[in-house]
Amino acid sequence: MDLAVLEKNLKWRGIKLAVFQTKEEAADYLVREIQGKSVGFGGSMTLETMGLYEKLKANNEVFWHWRQDMTADEAKKRAYTADIYLSSLNGVAETGELVNIDGGGNRVAATQTKHEKVYFVVGENKIAPDLHAAIHRARNIAAPLNARRLHKKTPCAVKADHCYDCKSPERICRSLNVIWERPSAVAACELVLIREPLGY
Ligand code: SF4
Repeated sequence: MDLAVLEKNLKWRGIKLAVFQTKEEAADYLVREIQGKSVGFGGSMTLETMGLYEKLKANNEVFWHWRQDMTADEAKKRAYTADIYLSSLNGVAETGELVNIDGGGNRVAATQTKHEKVYFVVGENKIAPDLHAAIHRARNIAAPLNARRLHKKTPCAVKADHCYDCKSPERICRSLNVIWERPSAVAACELVLIREPLGY
């Protein structure tokens, strides 16, 4: 990965890049950046591993359907209209496109609705050389690993080796989103890249 190339390509698409060596440094940065806000979270093992919900909750009102503070539907609804939204990604192209696959659709929808800022937090394992490779990664690496983690009855969950484009009732891949440029409803967009493997 060439960081200068990635930064240039993201900038051209209206997306800022911030790079950290460790998840702890990235979490400290986000805690400094986000204070006194309403904050929505998308489902993400990266955000979970970083302990960001608990860290941000000290100084913000945080909504995450992975926590039990309210019903999942209510948390998703509040996250959708929060000042700030945090999500990870399933693939990032060095050419600057951001790729996510979703089952319920709340995460991909919320990254494109009105917020002061959307932060995409990713480990460097998510980086792929171009859009084709980023989509391939999202479909054939991230989604099968997530299906296995969730104990879904899908063909990919058995070996997590690749996508079988299944018709399973428990299929977790229901939509594919590619962000070509900062969504117009989002006032600012930033990719927080951590130079460690994180999430799927
Ligand atoms: S479409 Fe089905 S087989 Fe493919 S990754 Fe998603 S759940 Fe697995």
